[in-house]
Amino acid sequence: MKRVHNFSAGPCTLPLEVLEETQGEFLDFADNGMSIIEDSHRGPSYEKIHQNALSSFRRLTNLPDDFAVLFLQGGATLQFAQSAMNLLTEDEIAGYVNTGVWGQKSLEDASKVANVYEAWTGQESDFTKTPETGEISIQHDTKWLHITSNETIGGIRFEQFPDVDIPMVADMSSDFLSRSIDWGKFDLVYGGAQKNLGPAGLAIVIVRRESLGKHGRNLPTYLDYQFHDKNDSLGNTPPMFPIYVMGKVLDWMEENGGLTEFERRAEIRSSLIYEVIDNSDGWYSSPVATGSRSMMNIIFHLPDETLENKFIEEATALDLINLKGHRSVGGVRTSLYNAMPIESVEILSNFMKDFLESNG
Ligand SMILES: *Cc1c(COP(=O)(O)O)cnc(C)c1O
Repeated sequence: MKRVHNFSAGPCTLPLEVLEETQGEFLDFADNGMSIIEDSHRGPSYEKIHQNALSSFRRLTNLPDDFAVLFLQGGATLQFAQSAMNLLTEDEIAGYVNTGVWGQKSLEDASKVANVYEAWTGQESDFTKTPETGEISIQHDTKWLHITSNETIGGIRFEQFPDVDIPMVADMSSDFLSRSIDWGKFDLVYGGAQKNLGPAGLAIVIVRRESLGKHGRNLPTYLDYQFHDKNDSLGNTPPMFPIYVMGKVLDWMEENGGLTEFERRAEIRSSLIYEVIDNSDGWYSSPVATGSRSMMNIIFHLPDETLENKFIEEATALDLINLKGHRSVGGVRTSLYNAMPIESVEILSNFMKDFLESNG
Protein backbone atom coordinates (compact mmCIF):
# COMPACT_ATOMS: atom_id res chain seq x y z
CA MET A 1 0.00 0.00 0.00
CA LYS A 2 1.22 3.46 -0.90
CA ARG A 3 0.14 6.59 1.03
CA VAL A 4 1.18 9.97 -0.36
CA HIS A 5 1.73 13.24 1.49
CA ASN A 6 -1.51 14.95 0.49
CA PHE A 7 -1.42 18.74 0.82
CA SER A 8 -4.87 19.19 -0.75
CA ALA A 9 -6.94 22.23 0.25
CA GLY A 10 -9.97 19.97 0.57
CA PRO A 11 -11.13 17.30 0.85
CA CYS A 12 -8.23 16.74 3.15
CA THR A 13 -5.95 14.07 4.53
CA LEU A 14 -7.60 12.08 7.32
CA PRO A 15 -5.86 10.22 10.17
CA LEU A 16 -4.63 6.82 8.97
CA GLU A 17 -5.90 5.23 12.21
CA VAL A 18 -9.41 6.46 11.42
CA LEU A 19 -9.33 5.14 7.86
CA GLU A 20 -8.06 1.76 9.04
CA GLU A 21 -10.69 1.46 11.74
CA THR A 22 -13.40 2.38 9.23
CA GLN A 23 -12.08 -0.20 6.80
CA GLY A 24 -11.85 -2.90 9.47
CA GLU A 25 -15.48 -2.59 10.57
CA PHE A 26 -16.97 -1.60 7.24
CA LEU A 27 -18.55 -4.83 5.99
CA ASP A 28 -19.90 -5.99 9.32
CA PHE A 29 -20.46 -3.13 11.71
CA ALA A 30 -20.89 -4.21 15.37
CA ASP A 31 -21.82 -7.77 14.34
CA ASN A 32 -24.89 -6.49 12.50
CA GLY A 33 -23.94 -8.34 9.31
CA MET A 34 -24.08 -5.10 7.32
CA SER A 35 -22.23 -1.82 7.03
CA ILE A 36 -23.36 1.24 8.95
CA ILE A 37 -24.32 3.01 5.72
CA GLU A 38 -26.83 0.26 4.94
CA ASP A 39 -28.42 0.38 8.38
CA SER A 40 -31.40 2.48 9.48
CA HIS A 41 -30.64 5.99 10.66
CA ARG A 42 -33.25 5.29 13.38
CA GLY A 43 -31.59 2.06 14.53
CA PRO A 44 -29.56 1.68 17.75
CA SER A 45 -26.15 1.42 16.02
CA TYR A 46 -26.45 4.67 14.13
CA GLU A 47 -28.22 6.42 17.00
CA LYS A 48 -25.17 5.78 19.18
CA ILE A 49 -22.75 7.05 16.53
CA HIS A 50 -24.84 10.19 16.03
CA GLN A 51 -25.14 11.04 19.72
CA ASN A 52 -21.45 10.31 20.30
CA ALA A 53 -20.44 12.65 17.47
CA LEU A 54 -22.65 15.40 18.91
CA SER A 55 -21.25 15.01 22.41
CA SER A 56 -17.61 14.73 21.24
CA PHE A 57 -18.07 17.94 19.29
CA ARG A 58 -19.42 19.69 22.38
CA ARG A 59 -16.62 18.42 24.63
CA LEU A 60 -13.84 19.28 22.21
CA THR A 61 -15.10 22.81 21.63
CA ASN A 62 -16.05 23.41 25.25
CA LEU A 63 -19.42 24.50 23.94
CA PRO A 64 -21.84 26.24 26.34
CA ASP A 65 -25.24 24.53 26.77
CA ASP A 66 -27.17 27.35 25.14
CA PHE A 67 -25.72 26.51 21.72
CA ALA A 68 -27.17 23.90 19.37
CA VAL A 69 -24.97 21.73 17.13
CA LEU A 70 -26.58 20.86 13.79
CA PHE A 71 -25.37 18.32 11.21
CA LEU A 72 -26.57 19.47 7.79
CA GLN A 73 -26.03 18.87 4.09
CA GLY A 74 -25.32 21.40 1.35
CA GLY A 75 -21.79 22.24 2.50
CA ALA A 76 -20.64 25.60 3.80
CA THR A 77 -22.02 27.03 0.56
CA LEU A 78 -25.64 26.53 1.60
CA GLN A 79 -24.86 28.21 4.92
CA PHE A 80 -23.99 31.49 3.21
CA ALA A 81 -27.73 32.02 2.63
CA GLN A 82 -29.25 29.71 5.24
CA SER A 83 -27.53 31.48 8.13
CA ALA A 84 -28.83 34.86 6.97
CA MET A 85 -32.40 33.53 6.49
CA ASN A 86 -32.44 32.13 10.00
CA LEU A 87 -30.82 35.00 11.87
CA LEU A 88 -32.37 38.03 10.18
CA THR A 89 -35.97 39.16 9.75
CA GLU A 90 -36.85 40.82 6.46
CA ASP A 91 -36.14 44.22 8.08
CA GLU A 92 -32.92 43.52 9.94
CA ILE A 93 -29.42 44.09 8.53
CA ALA A 94 -26.04 42.38 8.87
CA GLY A 95 -22.50 43.48 7.93
CA TYR A 96 -19.98 41.31 6.05
CA VAL A 97 -16.21 41.47 6.17
CA ASN A 98 -14.92 40.69 2.70
CA THR A 99 -11.50 39.10 3.14
CA GLY A 100 -11.36 37.23 -0.18
CA VAL A 101 -13.00 34.58 -2.32
CA TRP A 102 -15.05 33.01 0.46
CA GLY A 103 -15.92 36.26 2.21
CA GLN A 104 -17.15 37.58 -1.13
CA LYS A 105 -19.26 34.48 -1.82
CA SER A 106 -20.91 34.60 1.60
CA LEU A 107 -21.82 38.26 1.04
CA GLU A 108 -23.19 37.61 -2.45
CA ASP A 109 -25.37 34.69 -1.41
CA ALA A 110 -26.66 36.35 1.76
CA SER A 111 -27.60 39.43 -0.24
CA LYS A 112 -30.00 37.32 -2.32
CA VAL A 113 -32.12 36.53 0.73
CA ALA A 114 -31.51 39.32 3.25
CA ASN A 115 -30.37 42.91 3.78
CA VAL A 116 -26.61 42.75 4.13
CA TYR A 117 -23.76 45.12 3.35
CA GLU A 118 -19.98 45.06 3.01
CA ALA A 119 -18.45 46.37 6.25
CA TRP A 120 -14.86 46.06 5.02
CA THR A 121 -13.10 44.92 1.87
CA GLY A 122 -9.56 43.72 1.39
CA GLN A 123 -9.59 44.77 -2.24
CA GLU A 124 -7.07 47.61 -1.79
CA SER A 125 -4.48 45.21 -0.37
CA ASP A 126 -5.40 42.58 -2.98
CA PHE A 127 -6.90 40.46 -0.19
CA THR A 128 -3.55 39.82 1.52
CA LYS A 129 -4.58 40.90 5.03
CA THR A 130 -7.42 40.76 7.53
CA PRO A 131 -8.68 44.05 9.03
CA GLU A 132 -8.03 45.61 12.42
CA THR A 133 -11.26 46.05 14.38
CA GLY A 134 -11.13 49.84 13.89
CA GLU A 135 -11.12 49.48 10.10
CA ILE A 136 -14.48 47.70 10.03
CA SER A 137 -17.41 50.07 9.39
CA ILE A 138 -20.46 48.82 11.22
CA GLN A 139 -23.68 50.65 10.41
CA HIS A 140 -26.24 51.62 13.02
CA ASP A 141 -28.66 48.82 14.00
CA THR A 142 -26.55 46.03 12.51
CA LYS A 143 -27.68 42.71 13.98
CA TRP A 144 -24.39 40.86 13.52
CA LEU A 145 -21.11 40.83 11.65
CA HIS A 146 -20.05 38.00 9.35
CA ILE A 147 -16.39 37.00 9.06
CA THR A 148 -14.44 34.22 7.36
CA SER A 149 -11.94 33.09 9.99
CA ASN A 150 -9.51 31.65 7.42
CA GLU A 151 -9.47 32.36 3.68
CA THR A 152 -8.55 29.03 2.12
CA ILE A 153 -7.56 30.45 -1.28
CA GLY A 154 -5.89 33.70 -0.21
CA GLY A 155 -4.05 32.06 2.70
CA ILE A 156 -4.97 34.67 5.30
CA ARG A 157 -6.60 34.34 8.70
CA PHE A 158 -7.78 36.40 11.63
CA GLU A 159 -5.03 35.96 14.18
CA GLN A 160 -7.33 37.75 16.65
CA PHE A 161 -11.06 37.88 16.03
CA PRO A 162 -12.47 41.40 15.70
CA ASP A 163 -13.41 43.02 18.99
CA VAL A 164 -16.84 44.39 18.10
CA ASP A 165 -19.85 45.05 20.31
CA ILE A 166 -22.31 43.06 18.23
CA PRO A 167 -22.33 39.25 17.87
CA MET A 168 -20.43 37.60 15.03
CA VAL A 169 -21.29 34.88 12.55
CA ALA A 170 -18.28 33.02 11.19
CA ASP A 171 -17.46 30.69 8.35
CA MET A 172 -14.75 28.55 9.94
CA SER A 173 -14.65 25.86 7.23
CA SER A 174 -10.91 25.80 6.76
CA ASP A 175 -9.69 26.25 10.33
CA PHE A 176 -12.49 24.41 12.11
CA LEU A 177 -11.29 23.03 15.45
CA SER A 178 -7.69 24.01 14.84
CA ARG A 179 -7.87 26.51 17.70
CA SER A 180 -10.12 27.23 20.65
CA ILE A 181 -13.11 29.53 20.17
CA ASP A 182 -14.39 32.23 22.52
CA TRP A 183 -18.10 31.43 22.15
CA GLY A 184 -19.14 34.66 23.85
CA LYS A 185 -18.31 36.52 20.65
CA PHE A 186 -20.44 34.41 18.31
CA ASP A 187 -24.11 33.74 17.59
CA LEU A 188 -23.28 31.24 14.88
CA VAL A 189 -20.29 29.35 13.50
CA TYR A 190 -20.46 27.08 10.48
CA GLY A 191 -18.21 25.08 8.19
CA GLY A 192 -18.00 22.17 5.81
CA ALA A 193 -16.44 19.08 7.42
CA GLN A 194 -14.10 18.20 4.58
CA LYS A 195 -11.25 20.59 5.41
CA ASN A 196 -10.38 19.69 8.96
CA LEU A 197 -12.85 17.17 10.31
CA GLY A 198 -13.92 14.44 7.92
CA PRO A 199 -15.24 13.52 4.47
CA ALA A 200 -17.35 15.84 2.31
CA GLY A 201 -21.13 15.77 2.54
CA LEU A 202 -21.56 17.32 5.98
CA ALA A 203 -21.77 20.88 7.22
CA ILE A 204 -21.73 21.70 10.92
CA VAL A 205 -23.65 24.66 12.30
CA ILE A 206 -23.23 25.80 15.90
CA VAL A 207 -25.89 28.32 16.78
CA ARG A 208 -26.99 30.16 19.89
CA ARG A 209 -30.47 28.76 20.62
CA GLU A 210 -31.77 32.13 21.78
CA SER A 211 -31.34 33.49 18.24
CA LEU A 212 -33.50 30.76 16.67
CA GLY A 213 -37.13 31.10 15.56
CA LYS A 214 -37.09 34.88 15.28
CA HIS A 215 -36.77 35.25 11.51
CA GLY A 216 -40.53 35.64 10.89
CA ARG A 217 -40.12 33.99 7.50
CA ASN A 218 -42.03 31.13 5.94
CA LEU A 219 -39.01 28.87 5.47
CA PRO A 220 -39.15 25.43 3.82
CA THR A 221 -38.61 22.67 6.39
CA TYR A 222 -34.97 21.88 5.64
CA LEU A 223 -33.93 25.53 5.61
CA ASP A 224 -35.21 26.20 9.13
CA TYR A 225 -32.56 25.54 11.78
CA GLN A 226 -35.26 24.91 14.39
CA PHE A 227 -36.41 21.80 12.52
CA HIS A 228 -32.93 20.34 12.89
CA ASP A 229 -32.43 21.49 16.47
CA LYS A 230 -35.76 20.03 17.65
CA ASN A 231 -34.89 16.69 16.04
CA ASP A 232 -31.20 16.48 17.00
CA SER A 233 -30.40 16.65 13.25
CA LEU A 234 -32.43 13.46 12.71
CA GLY A 235 -35.53 15.12 11.29
CA ASN A 236 -34.69 13.68 7.90
CA THR A 237 -32.00 11.17 6.89
CA PRO A 238 -28.68 12.71 7.96
CA PRO A 239 -25.41 12.24 6.04
CA MET A 240 -24.60 9.09 8.03
CA PHE A 241 -21.24 8.19 6.55
CA PRO A 242 -19.52 11.58 7.01
CA ILE A 243 -20.97 11.88 10.53
CA TYR A 244 -19.68 8.40 11.37
CA VAL A 245 -16.16 9.15 10.09
CA MET A 246 -16.10 12.62 11.66
CA GLY A 247 -17.05 11.04 14.99
CA LYS A 248 -13.92 8.92 14.75
CA VAL A 249 -11.81 11.96 13.84
CA LEU A 250 -13.18 13.82 16.88
CA ASP A 251 -12.38 10.84 19.14
CA TRP A 252 -8.89 10.76 17.66
CA MET A 253 -8.49 14.49 18.38
CA GLU A 254 -9.60 14.03 22.00
CA GLU A 255 -7.21 11.09 22.46
CA ASN A 256 -4.41 13.22 21.04
CA GLY A 257 -4.81 16.12 23.43
CA GLY A 258 -7.73 18.20 22.13
CA LEU A 259 -7.72 21.71 20.69
CA THR A 260 -4.70 22.98 22.63
CA GLU A 261 -2.59 20.22 21.13
CA PHE A 262 -3.95 20.78 17.62
CA GLU A 263 -3.23 24.49 17.91
CA ARG A 264 0.34 23.61 18.93
CA ARG A 265 0.72 21.22 15.99
CA ALA A 266 -0.65 23.85 13.59
CA GLU A 267 2.02 26.27 14.83
CA ILE A 268 4.78 23.70 14.34
CA ARG A 269 3.60 22.71 10.86
CA SER A 270 3.13 26.23 9.56
CA SER A 271 6.45 27.45 11.05
CA LEU A 272 8.27 24.67 9.19
CA ILE A 273 7.14 26.24 5.90
CA TYR A 274 7.16 29.96 6.79
CA GLU A 275 10.71 29.61 8.14
CA VAL A 276 11.97 28.34 4.79
CA ILE A 277 10.20 31.20 3.03
CA ASP A 278 11.57 33.79 5.48
CA ASN A 279 15.13 32.44 5.29
CA SER A 280 15.27 32.35 1.50
CA ASP A 281 16.15 36.04 0.91
CA GLY A 282 12.94 36.48 -1.06
CA TRP A 283 13.50 33.50 -3.38
CA TYR A 284 10.33 32.00 -1.96
CA SER A 285 7.87 34.80 -1.35
CA SER A 286 4.55 35.02 0.44
CA PRO A 287 2.06 37.69 -0.66
CA VAL A 288 0.41 37.62 2.77
CA ALA A 289 0.86 40.34 5.44
CA THR A 290 2.84 38.96 8.39
CA GLY A 291 0.07 39.38 10.99
CA SER A 292 -2.50 37.62 8.80
CA ARG A 293 -0.66 34.45 7.87
CA SER A 294 -2.84 31.36 7.73
CA MET A 295 -1.67 28.29 9.62
CA MET A 296 -3.82 26.03 7.45
CA ASN A 297 -3.19 27.20 3.86
CA ILE A 298 0.21 28.61 3.02
CA ILE A 299 0.66 30.32 -0.32
CA PHE A 300 4.03 31.12 -1.80
CA HIS A 301 5.68 31.99 -5.08
CA LEU A 302 9.02 31.12 -6.67
CA PRO A 303 10.94 33.61 -8.85
CA ASP A 304 9.03 32.59 -12.01
CA GLU A 305 6.37 30.25 -13.30
CA THR A 306 8.83 27.87 -14.96
CA LEU A 307 10.46 27.26 -11.58
CA GLU A 308 7.05 26.88 -9.95
CA ASN A 309 6.09 24.18 -12.44
CA LYS A 310 9.42 22.43 -11.95
CA PHE A 311 8.96 22.63 -8.17
CA ILE A 312 5.51 21.04 -8.35
CA GLU A 313 6.70 18.36 -10.77
CA GLU A 314 9.70 17.33 -8.63
CA ALA A 315 7.61 17.44 -5.45
CA THR A 316 4.98 15.20 -7.04
CA ALA A 317 7.69 12.69 -7.98
CA LEU A 318 8.48 12.50 -4.23
CA ASP A 319 4.79 11.86 -3.41
CA LEU A 320 4.32 15.42 -2.12
CA ILE A 321 1.05 16.03 -3.92
CA ASN A 322 -1.70 18.63 -4.54
CA LEU A 323 0.65 21.60 -4.17
CA LYS A 324 -0.52 23.63 -7.13
CA GLY A 325 -1.93 27.02 -6.10
CA HIS A 326 -5.56 27.88 -6.79
CA ARG A 327 -5.98 29.04 -10.40
CA SER A 328 -6.96 32.55 -9.25
CA VAL A 329 -3.75 33.02 -7.21
CA GLY A 330 -1.18 30.78 -8.90
CA GLY A 331 2.09 29.73 -7.26
CA VAL A 332 2.20 26.97 -4.68
CA ARG A 333 -0.34 26.27 -1.97
CA THR A 334 0.22 23.82 0.85
CA SER A 335 -2.69 22.97 3.10
CA LEU A 336 -1.78 21.74 6.57
CA TYR A 337 -4.97 20.59 8.23
CA ASN A 338 -5.40 18.85 11.59
CA ALA A 339 -4.61 15.32 10.40
CA MET A 340 -1.49 16.28 8.41
CA PRO A 341 1.45 14.47 10.04
CA ILE A 342 4.27 16.80 11.13
CA GLU A 343 6.72 14.37 9.47
CA SER A 344 5.09 15.02 6.07
CA VAL A 345 5.57 18.75 6.54
CA GLU A 346 9.22 18.16 7.50
CA ILE A 347 9.70 16.28 4.23
CA LEU A 348 8.15 19.17 2.29
CA SER A 349 10.19 21.74 4.21
CA ASN A 350 13.42 19.84 3.47
CA PHE A 351 12.44 19.50 -0.18
CA MET A 352 11.96 23.30 -0.34
CA LYS A 353 15.48 23.83 1.04
CA ASP A 354 16.99 21.31 -1.38
CA PHE A 355 15.13 22.80 -4.33
CA LEU A 356 16.41 26.28 -3.46
CA GLU A 357 19.94 24.90 -3.15
CA SER A 358 19.82 23.32 -6.62
CA ASN A 359 17.92 26.07 -8.43
CA GLY A 360 18.60 29.30 -6.51
C1 LIG B 1 -14.23 25.15 1.10
C2 LIG B 1 -14.82 26.36 1.72
C3 LIG B 1 -16.17 26.70 1.55
C4 LIG B 1 -17.10 25.89 0.68
O1 LIG B 1 -17.38 24.70 1.30
P1 LIG B 1 -18.37 23.62 0.65
O2 LIG B 1 -18.57 22.68 1.79
O3 LIG B 1 -17.66 23.03 -0.52
O4 LIG B 1 -19.62 24.31 0.26
C5 LIG B 1 -16.65 27.82 2.19
N1 LIG B 1 -15.86 28.59 2.95
C6 LIG B 1 -14.55 28.30 3.13
C7 LIG B 1 -13.72 29.19 3.99
C8 LIG B 1 -14.00 27.18 2.51
O5 LIG B 1 -12.70 26.89 2.69
